[in-house]
Amino acid sequence: MFRRVLIANRGEIALRVIRACRELGIETVCIYSDEDRGAAYLDVADRAICIGTGAPKDSYLKSERIIASAEIAGADAIHPGYGFLAENAAFAEKCRASNIEFIGPTAEAMRLLGDKATARSIAKKAKVPIVPGTEGILENDDETLKFALKVGFPVMIKASAGGGGRGMRIVRQKGELLDAIKQAQQESLGAFGSSDVYLEKFIEEPRHVEVQIIADHNNNIVHLGERDCTVQRRYQKLMEESPSPSIDAKTRKELCASAVRLVKAAGYTSAGTVEFLVDKKGKYYFIEVNTRIQVEHPVSEMVTDFDLIKAQIRVAANEPLGITQRQVDPRGHALECRINAEDPAHNFRPCAGMIEKYRPPGGFGVRVDSYAHEMCRISPRYDSLIAKVIVHQPTRDESIRCMQRCLHEFVIEPVKTTIPFLKRVLAHADFVKGTIDTSFVERAFPQEK
Ligand code: ADP
Ligand code: ADP
Ligand code: MG
Repeated sequence: MFRRVLIANRGEIALRVIRACRELGIETVCIYSDEDRGAAYLDVADRAICIGTGAPKDSYLKSERIIASAEIAGADAIHPGYGFLAENAAFAEKCRASNIEFIGPTAEAMRLLGDKATARSIAKKAKVPIVPGTEGILENDDETLKFALKVGFPVMIKASAGGGGRGMRIVRQKGELLDAIKQAQQESLGAFGSSDVYLEKFIEEPRHVEVQIIADHNNNIVHLGERDCTVQRRYQKLMEESPSPSIDAKTRKELCASAVRLVKAAGYTSAGTVEFLVDKKGKYYFIEVNTRIQVEHPVSEMVTDFDLIKAQIRVAANEPLGITQRQVDPRGHALECRINAEDPAHNFRPCAGMIEKYRPPGGFGVRVDSYAHEMCRISPRYDSLIAKVIVHQPTRDESIRCMQRCLHEFVIEPVKTTIPFLKRVLAHADFVKGTIDTSFVERAFPQEK
C-alpha cells in the first residue's frame, strides 16, 4: 500500500480523498494555490504545499510542479480527483515515469476511452450500441452532409476532447451545418487543444443513465449499478439518483453488461463511468466514458455500501478489488443535489464571496460532502460546487421527502446558491413521477434555463 498520497485537486473532492487516505492509514499531502491559502480542508491533510497563483494554469494544472512537489514531499502516489488533470493522459504518464503512481487508469486506457470519437469506435467493436454518428472525426464536407441528411436534423456537433457540458452544439438546418462545424472546430481548439469534432444524431427527449464501474489489475471488473442524471441544465448535471426510476430490470442488466464489455475491451483499470442516453422507447445508446471519479460517485457508494475512493486507491496499489459482482447488492434509493454558488434568480450567474452563516443538514440517511464552513471564502476562479447533499432511504419517495427536509435545513448566507431552485425541482410533479427527460429544466422553468 502507499505510504503517502499527494492530492492534485482542491475543495470538496480534495477533502473526500484526504478522508479516504486517513482511514486507510495513508499520509496526505495537499497542494493549493494562493487563492486557496488558509482553506480549512488543508488543515486536515498532513501537509499542504503552495504550488502557484490562482489561475488553474499557474497552479492546479502545472503538472511538472505538482510532480516535483510529490517528489519533495516523498509521496508515492497522486490522486487527481475530477476536473483539472484527472483526464490528462500525458500527466498520468509523467507521474509514472517519475515513479509516482497515478491513481487512475493507465495512460493508454485513458487515451482510448477519454477521447469521445475513439471511445465510440471501441464501443462499436464491443457491440455496445452507440448514438448514430459519423465514423471518427469529421474530415470532409461531403461526408458530413451525407450523414446529416441520412439521420435527419437536428444533429449534434461534438468535440472529441470536450467535457463538463462544453463543446456541444445542436444544428437544426442543413444550411447552418458547415459553418457551425467550422466554428465548433475553432472553439474546440481554443478550449480543449484539439479541433477534432464529430457528428451525432440528436436524440429527442432522452434520459441520461450512466454505469459506475471499477476494475483491478487482475481482470476483476464489477459495476455498481446505474445512476440517473437526467436533471440537467445546459448539459450539466444538477441532481443524480440511483436506481434510475425510468428503466426496467432488463434494460438495467443490458446497460450494465454493455458498460463492463466496453471497459474490458479497452483494458481499463480503476474507477470509471460509462454514460448512456436512453430514448423514449427505452433504447439505449453509449455517449462517452469518464475515465475518473465523478462528482456524483457518492450516490452509488450509498446504495452499494462500497467506498469507491478507497477502492480506487487499493486498486492503484495493485491490490485486488476485494469484491465480486455477485457481492454487489444495491439497497434502497440514493439522491444527490449539487449545491453550487450560483444565483438561480439571475440566470445561474456564479456568486462568490464569504459564507457568513453555514448550517448543513444532518440526520438519518444524510451525507454532506463539502469543504465549506462559516467564514469560508468561495473563490470565483474555480468550479462553483460548494456542497453535495446525498440522502439514502428505502424508497425514492422517501429520498425526495428527506432531500426536501435537508434543503429546508441547509442555510448558506449571504452567498447565493442553487438551493431554492433545487427545492422547486423536488416539488415538481414530473420529477416526482420520474417521467422527465433532459429537456425538463428548460421546459418546466423557462425563465431559468
Ligand atoms: P460531456 O463530456 O460534456 O459530459 P456528454 O457527451 O456526456 O458530454 O453529454 C452531456 C449531455 O449532453 C448528455 O447528458 C445529454 O443531456 C446531452 N447530449 C449529449 N449527446 C447527445 C445527443 N446525441 N442527443 C441528445 N442529447 C445529447
Ligand atoms: P461529472 O460527470 O463527474 O458530473 P462534470 O462533467 O460535472 O462531471 O465535471 C466534473 C468537473 O470536471 C467539473 O469541474 C468540470 O468542469 C470538469 N471537467 C470535466 N471534463 C472536463 C474537460 N474535458 N475539460 C475541463 N474540465 C472538465
Ligand atoms: Mg458526460
